[in-house]
Amino acid sequence: MQERRSSSSTMAVEQCLVLIKPDGLVKSLTGDIISKFSETELIIVGSKVVQVTRELAEEHYHHLREEKFFDELIKYIMGEYHTKRVLALVYHGENAIKKVRKIVGLTNPELAEPTSIRGKYGRVTSKGVFENVVHASENPKEAEREIKLWFRPEELVYTIYPTEAKNVARTIIFWK
Ligand code: UDP
Ligand code: MG
Repeated sequence: MQERRSSSSTMAVEQCLVLIKPDGLVKSLTGDIISKFSETELIIVGSKVVQVTRELAEEHYHHLREEKFFDELIKYIMGEYHTKRVLALVYHGENAIKKVRKIVGLTNPELAEPTSIRGKYGRVTSKGVFENVVHASENPKEAEREIKLWFRPEELVYTIYPTEAKNVARTIIFWK
């Protein structure tokens, strides 16, 4: 990771995984959300629409597996209540995590600043889950874990993390 220090602050070039969750897609908020992030001048280095499997959902939220809302959270991110689609984006640039999370707002939409994405568009369900429209990585270590979980190296325009080549036998689907 590149680091540049100035007298007043530390600048770090970071990556941040952003997921526009199924409620964000159903409410057609993708354009609004991406426009809002463009204020940061961070760049998008990867993006794709994902149909989230149970395995991916449980791995992504593994730190919350003991929480009482875990099962509902898994259903939510898998799209059971909205649409089975998530838009995954990787943002890159100086202090990416802090910049993205400021725009995203606090986890609980009722406590998030009203002008933040979660404050504007999120809600708390009757089952107590925070349907908060977007996910954003919390720190560089989590960003790395999450980006490696959601993206293959060749799906990003930069080779952000070290890679290795392996010979594997696998079946690839082509267009007919
Ligand atoms: N969540 C919830 N209730 C809680 C805490 C979290 O429904 O009391 C959900 C919410 O959708 C949140 C996700 O679980 O975005 C992941 O929680 P985390 O604590 O990592 O918050 P985040 O990093 O997303 O702000
Ligand atoms: Mg989190």
